[in-house]
Amino acid sequence: MRFQLIGLMLLMASCTDPSLCADCTGLVDSGVDSDTDADTDTDTDSDTDTDTDSDTDTDTDTDTDSDTDTLRDPEPHDCFDVPTARCPAGTPTLGDASGFGLQKATLTWNYSRACGISWADPIYVRRPSDLRGLAITVDAWRDYTGVGFLAVDGRTVLDIEVESGPTAWWEPPFQHESAIASTLVLPNSPAGALPAGDCIGIVPIAPDDLRGEEATLWLSSQRGAAGREIDLNFIVVDGTDVTRTELSEAAGVVDDLLTKAGVSLGDVGLWYAEAPWGEYLPSGDGEEADLLRAFTPEGAPVPAVNVYFVQDIGRGGLYGFAGGVPGPVAVSGTAASGLVISVDSHLLSDFTTLDTEELGGTISHELGHQLGLFHTSESDGRDHDVLSDTPQCPSSRDADRDGYITASECRGFGGDHVMFWTAAPYTQHTWSAQQTAVFRASPAAYR
Ligand SMILES: [Zn+2]
Repeated sequence: MRFQLIGLMLLMASCTDPSLCADCTGLVDSGVDSDTDADTDTDTDSDTDTDTDSDTDTDTDTDTDSDTDTLRDPEPHDCFDVPTARCPAGTPTLGDASGFGLQKATLTWNYSRACGISWADPIYVRRPSDLRGLAITVDAWRDYTGVGFLAVDGRTVLDIEVESGPTAWWEPPFQHESAIASTLVLPNSPAGALPAGDCIGIVPIAPDDLRGEEATLWLSSQRGAAGREIDLNFIVVDGTDVTRTELSEAAGVVDDLLTKAGVSLGDVGLWYAEAPWGEYLPSGDGEEADLLRAFTPEGAPVPAVNVYFVQDIGRGGLYGFAGGVPGPVAVSGTAASGLVISVDSHLLSDFTTLDTEELGGTISHELGHQLGLFHTSESDGRDHDVLSDTPQCPSSRDADRDGYITASECRGFGGDHVMFWTAAPYTQHTWSAQQTAVFRASPAAYR
């Protein structure tokens, strides 16, 4: 772990308009050539292939095995066009062979009046053989956006028109928050991985008629060897009472915890940013939180994860929150590009001393969310993550019958896990092997 003070003072005052804000943060195409953007190239001038012919060829190959069955176009849909099983000519390959890759496509919305949703023409990318992890972000600065349909070689992975089951949006393993910058992380579990195949087809969707509005699809990826280090950008909102020493101590705790998760903390940069509303963030889900997370200091590296420190959030009591479960990975400039952490929530009972151990624990927990991890058990003990190797704490452990399972009630049942839903009066330092695999495949763990 290397901790360095970059020491820039930046003004956010001009970032009051979301559309402007996306520009003023200077979105970075990190290590990506413009010609590898994931736009669907429908204008290739050498139209030498004919899709219908190649489909026919497949059908007449009677000696091939069941793999042929997967190369069948998905059923037509009511609300949007689904991707074909075969990628169009000129489809770019996903990612960068050197490791981390970031590609983007500008979306053009179509509108289904019958369904009341906007949808973009399918985006295609070819899957490289060394693909390790992928995060797909639909950024429309609008609630309820997301990946409406995802297929590999015509095999449905995720389908919003399915109400339940393993391909449904709202159920594991591919559930993702329909947020203002919605993200799907693959893999998020052994079950939540891309199936084998070459051609990845993605249909972004959003509510209402967004024709003419700007939107972007981001694809961040990791190829090759497993990741070992995750970098962080510490961004302190000016006026927040936290010292460089305290932040360094907290970073040390994050490093210890990440090491237990099979990765470690790499570079940590420190910036200060002035917010128009001051060091107290008015709420955890308002426009200010969106604008804060869309702000990236000039020169802040990608794919480092942004961590914003504020004095407190709303009326207090909130330790921090991620940009979604999962949130955008290695993508800056969206309304969900990072973690927000309250300093005051980590003060000891003297209301003066900062508990840097607990602060580091909160950063690690929210980082887990951002990169694709859910709570091992939710507060009621009825919902649990999709991972098979994390302990579940059932509602029957709620000894005092107050409706909440606490870490004390769940000792030995996952209460000691970093991704337990709430803090504990004892150390929470445990990760599972499947959680480790999610970290190591993340595009944020790029080296
Ligand atoms: Zn949480």
